[in-house]
Amino acid sequence: MQEVTKEDMKQNETSYFLASWEDNQLVLEPYCFCGEMLEENFFCPRCRENRAIDVILCREFKIVGIVEKFIHGNPQFKDFRAYLLKASQNP
Ligand SMILES: [Zn+2]
Repeated sequence: MQEVTKEDMKQNETSYFLASWEDNQLVLEPYCFCGEMLEENFFCPRCRENRAIDVILCREFKIVGIVEKFIHGNPQFKDFRAYLLKASQNP
């Protein structure tokens, strides 16, 4: 499992879903690589462009397994890669 920072995502211009575990379910929030949360159709209000996403960034190590299972179990996510957000990046 590769550990990345939000700065890495910005430098590589990689937009992503930020994955967390809330109320016993997986929550995926879409973010532009610039750090802004994406709106409908993955539109970034800051860059004024639509983003494509193929990365899921896991907020915590304990959800990595859940996210990997999710990727394998959902055909529309089969090309996604899961990364772990470096612990120092969490609030
Ligand atoms: Zn943006």
